[in-house]
Amino acid sequence: MQGIKDKIRTIPDFPKPGILFRDITTLLLDPQGFRKTVDELVQIHMSSRIDKIAGIEARGFILGGAVAHQIGAGFLPIRKKGKLPHTTIAEDYDLEYGTDTVEIHADAVSPGDQILLIDDLVATGGTAAASIRLLERAGATVIGCSFVIDLPDLGGRARLEQMGQRVQTLCA
Ligand code: IMP
Repeated sequence: MQGIKDKIRTIPDFPKPGILFRDITTLLLDPQGFRKTVDELVQIHMSSRIDKIAGIEARGFILGGAVAHQIGAGFLPIRKKGKLPHTTIAEDYDLEYGTDTVEIHADAVSPGDQILLIDDLVATGGTAAASIRLLERAGATVIGCSFVIDLPDLGGRARLEQMGQRVQTLCA
């Protein structure tokens, strides 16, 4: 999607050699670009009831918070291990080397909540898949996942679709 894609920059060798890091801070700095991105994310799932937006740390907080405000939904932060102050539930997921963990507050989901998951980028889909498992364990229905950027070669979108998810991305 032009107007969004052309405002995202790519940083070679960050955070380690060989990685091309997609940096959305340039998109967020641009008033029209930020507004268009949030407006597009809001439009995507307009037909479904959304009780809460779940945003994945850290860039999913910026985008998800803006979308939640726009549609009048609550915001639920999905955080890395050890950051949330109250009782948490956690879900582990595999990385190329080792594992990582996402957490939510144990009381963040009400039974029957319909939740839209938002993050800046889907690569392997591991972070989003663990987040979906976690939200569903807590009693939510995840009605879709929205990302600004898809890295299709890494297969994340297909993986989430295999879980039965509706996946929307704004650019690749
Ligand atoms: P995945 O779990 O492999 O799909 O990786 C997606 C997660 O890693 C998201 O939370 C992204 O914010 C982050 N991520 C991976 N690659 C990039 C990148 O190039 N730019 C920004 N975030 C990235």
